[in-house]
Amino acid sequence: MARKCTASINLSAIKENYLYAKSLAPSSKAIAIIKADAYGHGAIKVAKELNEVADAYGVACIEEAIELISSGIDKIPILLLEGVFEKSELILVEKHSLIVTVCNSVQLQWLLDAHLNRPIDVFVKYDSGMGRLGFQDDSFTHAINLLEKSNNIGEITLMTHFSSADDLGSTLTTKQISNFDNTLYTEKYPGSLANSAAILKWSESHREYVRPGIMLYGSSPFSEKTPLKKLTPAMTLSSVLISIKSFKAGQSIGYGCRYICKKNTLIGVVAIGYADGYPRSAIDGTPVFINGVKSKIAGRVSMDMITIDLTGVPNPQIGDRVELFGENVSVDEVAKYCNTISYEILSKITRRVYKAYI
Ligand SMILES: *Cc1c(COP(=O)(O)O)cnc(C)c1O
Repeated sequence: MARKCTASINLSAIKENYLYAKSLAPSSKAIAIIKADAYGHGAIKVAKELNEVADAYGVACIEEAIELISSGIDKIPILLLEGVFEKSELILVEKHSLIVTVCNSVQLQWLLDAHLNRPIDVFVKYDSGMGRLGFQDDSFTHAINLLEKSNNIGEITLMTHFSSADDLGSTLTTKQISNFDNTLYTEKYPGSLANSAAILKWSESHREYVRPGIMLYGSSPFSEKTPLKKLTPAMTLSSVLISIKSFKAGQSIGYGCRYICKKNTLIGVVAIGYADGYPRSAIDGTPVFINGVKSKIAGRVSMDMITIDLTGVPNPQIGDRVELFGENVSVDEVAKYCNTISYEILSKITRRVYKAYI
């Protein structure tokens, strides 16, 4: 490997974070959310790592489920978080004993009409306030009634999703929990409410199943600084310096001359850019880590390169390793400078970045 732009992925950190999630909700089963290629960490690798401990996996679509099954991950239940997108998928759902979410009346009808040899287990989605997928009150009752009567349906679990569990000041989470509990069925069927934020901070939402996602990868779901222990970052993104030059005060750096040197400045070029998934929205001052110190982005992110201010960096040399985020700069901090969230940065790391599993 010549271009050393690398995402080092610490699989045992993901396992540790999963077990931590389970320890926070000890009476719940934890569905490890590994959609979007495990938030960019590699779903097959992550699923294999969790194979001994995971209660279930959650993915976004059947393609993601089949990818796991084709690589031999076929012992642990897999939940399709958005259910099926076409009726024909139900053949594969039955064949591989997948669990489907039922989010709308069309998916419901497909299930009721299907000719199956064995029943399918379902998570019925209730819209308790997210305002996205799921049945609202009356249609939820109606859906449950139909599912209860159908021979196509095995176990029924009730699911809802929080819109604002990452905002500890919001009253909506409590409202969503009570909306959920006020449906007629929460006594009768197991439930699933909690995402990472709720696993960490809303323990009253822990029911039969919890659904940890971002916390598995060692990133915080909270935008405000919230004291969290024990989450270990799983991905360290790094590359190397490929140029070092000094510029005079007034000289500009990179596309659009966004960065103008205020004094004589040593500028380094790092071999990583937006085509690797490093956000083009990174502003001047976005931190990176090199030779034991933090340095800053200076100038616009290019497709294959970024430029950084080497002022104060001890003895920089071409070939020196630069960490974009991971052990020394958190992805959450970088996300703030890019006006986004860690979820987006992690899941958008591209194929060109070499993944090294440790
Ligand atoms: C992605 C997803 C999760 C995981 O959310 P995190 O905030 O990453 O923990 C949980 N439930 C559903 C339905 C999801 O789509």
